[in-house]
Amino acid sequence: MERNLETICIQGGWQPKKGEPRILPIYQSTTFKYDTSDEMGRLFDLEDTGYFYTRLQNPTNDAVAAKIAELEGGVGAMLTSSGQAANFYAIFNICSAGDHVVSSAPIYGGTFNLFAVTMKKLGIDFTFIDPDASVEEISSAFRPNTKALFAETISNPSLVVLDIEKFADIAHSHGVPLIIDNTFATPINCRPFEWGADIVTHSTTKYMDGHAMSVGGCIVDSGNFDWNKNAEKFPGLTEPDDSYHGIIYTEKFGKLAYITKATVQLMRDLGSIQSPQNAFLLNVGLETLHLRMPRHCENAQKVAEYLASNDKVAWVNYCGLKDNKYYDLAQKYLPNGSCGVISFGLKGGREESIEFMDNLKLAAIVTHVADARTSVLHPASHTHRQLTEEQLIEAGVQPDLIRFSVGIENADDIIADIEQALNR
Ligand SMILES: *Cc1c(COP(=O)(O)O)cnc(C)c1O
Repeated sequence: MERNLETICIQGGWQPKKGEPRILPIYQSTTFKYDTSDEMGRLFDLEDTGYFYTRLQNPTNDAVAAKIAELEGGVGAMLTSSGQAANFYAIFNICSAGDHVVSSAPIYGGTFNLFAVTMKKLGIDFTFIDPDASVEEISSAFRPNTKALFAETISNPSLVVLDIEKFADIAHSHGVPLIIDNTFATPINCRPFEWGADIVTHSTTKYMDGHAMSVGGCIVDSGNFDWNKNAEKFPGLTEPDDSYHGIIYTEKFGKLAYITKATVQLMRDLGSIQSPQNAFLLNVGLETLHLRMPRHCENAQKVAEYLASNDKVAWVNYCGLKDNKYYDLAQKYLPNGSCGVISFGLKGGREESIEFMDNLKLAAIVTHVADARTSVLHPASHTHRQLTEEQLIEAGVQPDLIRFSVGIENADDIIADIEQALNR
């Protein structure tokens, strides 16, 4: 039975049987016991399912992954130790040296570095495109060895709202999956699979955890992409895996091929598993996600309107403002609200922006975003510090851009704090 998101936030994942704990237990165990050597051997051959070592799977993690999969409407999910690991695994699961990926240019700075620098060293090439470009222009970035199209629902920090259907059509016309980082919208505000995306990733560190307690990530598989249709493009899924006596993931696991491979092959070999402790904390966060997201959006709308009406402010970027470039796309894909993150610049430019931030009292300067507490960051000096001026502009980050993450405090107090800092 399909349940509503609010119910899934609370009841999804852990399903206690008679006499079991009502609350998701933390399985603080690296290993799991079996009666015979043969039973254990069958697990290593993927002939049976079961837990044997937490680097591959852990019941606490799996319960939380199942909740996120249900929230996104996917067939399966895997938790990772961070959002960075999630995006790395999501791509690396279907790419190897010599392959190519097309990615939206305005994305999180850490992801941009991962793609443009570190994965390039592994021999995987990325072409970064303007997500607002025409279908023809974006299509021209594809090559015969292109294996995926990547973008963020709402980009961090430039707040570009993605035309997901357009992207899904482009990806599918080239026989590759669309991978969407849905961190800022969360499944409460957007479910990319409903618009044709194939794989969704998250930095659960942000709204999902929501309390700045634990770094984590997640990959969700829609189960919809037909890997066999262009089997030669995805040999890792459609040809025998020697490390498992030649099993073929698409044959053996069907709709779960992609997420199973990520778990039993990549996680086995690379090991960026989320700790069960952190998964437990993430689950507590998820239980209130449906309450927090609307409040983040409501508060952010008020703050954005205040900033837009203040004459010290040069520009405000929030897709809930009617004159925003992405207002119409947001109405389509994010009808209940986008997220709590706003960006803006002050008339004094970069220096004035930095001084304003130093004068804030309630809003804290932290390397964080999408958290219950209002926080603020200057990407050009912080998260995107390693990028050149040219890369900054390409990533949609103006040098004076202030990333303001509106929390779930009282909106009047947040606005009063901004006002006193602007007037100093
Ligand atoms: C923060 C963030 C990441 C990276 O996640 P970590 O959990 O910090 O590793 C990836 N994508 C987006 C959109 C983010 O905001």
